[in-house]
Amino acid sequence: MKILLNNNSLFKSLRPFNDIGFVPTMGSIHEGHLSLIDRSNRTCKKTIVSIFVNPKQFNNKKDFKNYPTNINKDIKILKKSKKVDFLYIPKFKDIYNNNKKSNIKITKKDKILCAKYRKGHFEGVLDVMERLTNLVNPKKIFMGKKDYQQYFLIKNYLKNKYKTSIVPCKTIRDINKISLSSRNNHLDLNGIKKASFLSKSLFRLKKNLVNKKKIKQKLRIQIKYFEKLLKIKIEYLELRSIKNLKISNTVRGSRLFVAYYIDNVRLIDNF
Ligand code: AMP
Repeated sequence: MKILLNNNSLFKSLRPFNDIGFVPTMGSIHEGHLSLIDRSNRTCKKTIVSIFVNPKQFNNKKDFKNYPTNINKDIKILKKSKKVDFLYIPKFKDIYNNNKKSNIKITKKDKILCAKYRKGHFEGVLDVMERLTNLVNPKKIFMGKKDYQQYFLIKNYLKNKYKTSIVPCKTIRDINKISLSSRNNHLDLNGIKKASFLSKSLFRLKKNLVNKKKIKQKLRIQIKYFEKLLKIKIEYLELRSIKNLKISNTVRGSRLFVAYYIDNVRLIDNF
């Protein structure tokens, strides 16, 4: 695994290859990331992973400052996997030095779910993904369905501008049914118990949801129930179509999208 610390070494190392699979991350590598890497490794000739905590996608400065990082541990894990050819760890200036200001805007119809609650977040995500795509020029980008709205917006944004295809990959969960996330590092044992209870309950809820008009109302009652029982804050709990992310009344072809806070840690998932 070759470590690339600037754009010069990135360009030099990638030049000979055209079948490149790319796994962009913000580090704190876990099994979720490793599953994307495994998929890339099986699909493409070369696999590159990036670790870049992009300040421009954080709508909250404290959240950025507290984002868990452990670059040495990450390097060890990635090396041990033997599935990564290149690890790109750019500096801020490697990504943003071309001074090109972004004019990406999320349209009104897309201001749903996290886009509604995290102002500027997806503008920052799309901007950095476009920059990374230009720098790495991958054939395929592997992304987790755990962050389904992110995958959906990136896919739609890049598809008309680049040849790169975006490959959605399944969500990896721990034994407690909690989807793996770097932010889980901030949870204490009690927090983990709550996240586990919520995940298991939402799997069950999705199974028991019957197609009917009252789904929205039912979900509103569920929000209140979970908030009171677990003493957590639920930002949204919505059933939406996976095709277009519109509110849905039918369980088939839809997912339950949730964002919630446990002790100030914001987590998202879908079921
Ligand atoms: P992050 O480092 O959190 O920005 O995530 C980098 C990539 O890993 C994104 O495409 C995520 O959707 C994906 N990812 C994060 N957690 C998981 C998970 N539990 N299972 C599968 N993919 C994940």
